[in-house]
Amino acid sequence: MKRKIFLILLLSLILVSCTNKNNDNNKNIYTSIYPIEYLTKEIVGDKYKVINIIPTGVEIHGWEPSMKTVASMSDSQLILVNGLGLESWADSVSESVGESKIVEVNKGIDYIKLTETEKEEHSHGDYDPHIWLSIKNMLVMAKNIEEEVVKLDPENKSYYEKNLERLESSLKELDGKFETALENYSGKAIIVPHDAFGYLVRDYNLKQIPIEGINSSSEPDLGTVAKIVDKAKSDNVNTVFYEYGGSDKIAKTIAKEISGETKEIYSLENITDELIKNNEDYYTLMEKNLNNILESFK
Ligand SMILES: [Zn+2]
Repeated sequence: MKRKIFLILLLSLILVSCTNKNNDNNKNIYTSIYPIEYLTKEIVGDKYKVINIIPTGVEIHGWEPSMKTVASMSDSQLILVNGLGLESWADSVSESVGESKIVEVNKGIDYIKLTETEKEEHSHGDYDPHIWLSIKNMLVMAKNIEEEVVKLDPENKSYYEKNLERLESSLKELDGKFETALENYSGKAIIVPHDAFGYLVRDYNLKQIPIEGINSSSEPDLGTVAKIVDKAKSDNVNTVFYEYGGSDKIAKTIAKEISGETKEIYSLENITDELIKNNEDYYTLMEKNLNNILESFK
């Protein structure tokens, strides 16, 4: 079955690459998820068109590309992915698009090892893939991306370096805001929609109480909800965060149990068209996260 799918894929690739000859796809860089798209756009400026593979507003965990998407990727020279098992589709398309074009941007990051329970529902690796929720990690990813872009287009090295510098100072400023604001809340806990905020809480000495697991696919059963309520009570938590644009049903249930309230948080795994229209980006949404987290500690 797999071989058959591969053959169909191959045929469609040949077809598309024959009809697409006039497109200047050499000027396209593909990214897998929004935070990588954000960093890459800041670095390449007007030199490349950055296309995010996963459409806006879609759940990224377990997402699979269509054959058309795979075909268009194969004409690009560079496909930047998160790695750590987040893109479960990367292995299966690497044969068709060219393995060497797919580059992971996580090199040099101090990964968080998943616990045995977390691993049980996470079939693709040993580490937490949500690296972009640490601004410090974003700095490492930005440098990795810049290096790849320079390899692709060494002539414009100084242009990319300048863009990287600007991006780095903006990320450092954002990280500074978190550091200063959260300084006095060491050890405080936040209830988050899914197990995605491990890197963020590590950076600022907080704790996360996740409602759903690492892949945000399964609604918790009553036992799990009861455990969350217990933890929330012992940690004096009064706010339950739900994912922006997602359902707040379970968050409301838990909030009722702890006589607290609900607020939204952005895991930034994806962005919606509405947010883009409102000129929101990684920086502004992380600022909103910070403000909402601060509010929850009051
Ligand atoms: Zn996630």
